[in-house]
Amino acid sequence: MSAKIAIIGSGPSGFYAADTFAKKMPDATIDIIDRLETPFGLVRAGVAPDHQGTKNVTRQFERTMQNDAVRFIGNVEIGRDVSYDELKETYDIIFIAIGASIDRKMGIVGENLKGVYGSSAFVGWYNGHPDAVNLKPILGPKGVAIIGNGNVAIDIIRVLAKTADEMEGSDLCLHSEENIRNNSIDDFYMIGRRGAAQAAFTPSEANELGQLSQCHPLIVNDDLSEIPSEENPKSQKNKEKNLEILKALKEQERGQKTKKLTLQFWAKPIEILGTDKVEGLRLERTHLVDGRVTGTGETFDIEVSTIISAIGYETAPISGLEMDGSIIRNEDGVVEEGVYVSGWCKHGPQGTIPTNRKESMEMAKRAIENFAGPSDKTGPAGLDALLSQRKVQTSTFDDWKQIEAEEEKAARPGRVREKKVTLS
Ligand code: NAP
Repeated sequence: MSAKIAIIGSGPSGFYAADTFAKKMPDATIDIIDRLETPFGLVRAGVAPDHQGTKNVTRQFERTMQNDAVRFIGNVEIGRDVSYDELKETYDIIFIAIGASIDRKMGIVGENLKGVYGSSAFVGWYNGHPDAVNLKPILGPKGVAIIGNGNVAIDIIRVLAKTADEMEGSDLCLHSEENIRNNSIDDFYMIGRRGAAQAAFTPSEANELGQLSQCHPLIVNDDLSEIPSEENPKSQKNKEKNLEILKALKEQERGQKTKKLTLQFWAKPIEILGTDKVEGLRLERTHLVDGRVTGTGETFDIEVSTIISAIGYETAPISGLEMDGSIIRNEDGVVEEGVYVSGWCKHGPQGTIPTNRKESMEMAKRAIENFAGPSDKTGPAGLDALLSQRKVQTSTFDDWKQIEAEEEKAARPGRVREKKVTLS
């Protein structure tokens, strides 16, 4: 039953689906299409540069690429180079795994001041994402406030607070490392609109906050006595572990540490202060009313020069595909006949690479079950013809292997690669 399959997006969700298709449908042709020249999406541009272990999933993706039926086609944007309708005319199955790359807005006064960044842009900046390498964020002279207390917030704090030695073995981009080292920031704030018992981070990431050689964690406005009450048992266990870790952090002595991270609980941002650029952040104390975060009316200000909102993402719309708020409209992963979604563009930016792996594999299996049988669609040859007609300069997986080899060769001492970026 040979099917012509297009996977849009070469991040983990796309690659896990490709692997399932390749194994379960050995006669199928599988084109993995990405708007970037390089593959691996979130793994290359989202996962923190000091979490190289997580990035090792790409070894598995490389094995998928060894299958002759699987192609990577980079530099192709759906809606710009090929339309969604053309894709449907060309392939039997379309599997969309484009993630969520647009920063959600906080919706408060001052959000457009210089010095305010969304985490997608900020993380893209230090990870060499072509859309964000020129961000040139203001860091200093005062501190940095990170809004939200999920794992992305913790990633950002680590990257900013770790010393050059602690970034040993990472692939932090040179342009970012220079900015970070030239502007030694001593004050970090992580702002949680709810309490420690509800914090969104997970235990292993929270634990890393206690291991920073130069940054002392300080817990503010939460006595850590609330017992978490999560419906999901795994989530309950994680929250309980979080509290144990936070209690241990609270016991830590500052010693000679020059930097400080204030974990500010029960506070929501209400205004960014400054006329041209950020000078501070106004926060309002919160409490829960019928389970909802509600301001108490009591406000206070902190002095910072940089604000990074790490409050979640929205999926970038594709022309021709209907959105449902910040995700692609779908019914349990099905967009329409033959078209499927998986990962963050299906259900929003939640879950880790392993949790999204399971979902992508299951969605791919469903697509296979639903496949009606061979068609006369043109598949890879049809796509190639369209792209060549439009003179689109595509990139292949071999091109990527060349880039990878050059990046590894260019690595500074103590770094695993120097990502190729073009700065203006
Ligand atoms: P997240 O886990 O959903 O955390 C978002 C945070 O922003 C929460 O603290 C949330 O508070 C807060 N927030 C949302 N809207 C807000 C607003 N208007 N004002 C103030 N605070 C607001 O999102 P994330 O950190 O972006 O992570 C996304 C996913 O990637 C998560 O599943 C995460 O675990 C995963 N991830 C994993 C790793 C890892 O495994 N190492 C690393 C990075 C990311 P509430 O809780 O009150 O809504």
